[in-house]
Amino acid sequence: MLKIEHLGIAVADLQKSIPLFEQLLNIPCYKTEVVESEGVSTAFFQLGESKIELLEATRPDSPINKYIEKKGEGIHHIAFEVENILAEMKRLSALGFTLLNETPKEGADNKLICFLHPKSTNSVLIELCQEKKA
Ligand code: ZN
Repeated sequence: MLKIEHLGIAVADLQKSIPLFEQLLNIPCYKTEVVESEGVSTAFFQLGESKIELLEATRPDSPINKYIEKKGEGIHHIAFEVENILAEMKRLSALGFTLLNETPKEGADNKLICFLHPKSTNSVLIELCQEKKA
């Protein structure tokens, strides 16, 4: 894996959390994007070579809504950038890690993504992401 691409943080209200993180980090949010297939509205901050991704639910059955109901707002997942997501999914699956999707999905910010089930990763939700090549 190449680096921590981003940390995902579940928030209840993106319009409140964007200015909060702009003040905290002292950098502007560079992008907001809705990923309807995932039921999330996202906002990104570039921090050195990594990013912060804020996630708000767009509908009641969104995984972010379920997460906040169970655990409250906070760190939701860690995303690792990989060179070749298919090869990495195959490698991790062979080692016994549980993939939450069998083929890569479209993620926010021009990425192909795959989540690993937290039960196989010390309760940390892990996202693999690969930059989509043009
Ligand atoms: Zn993410």
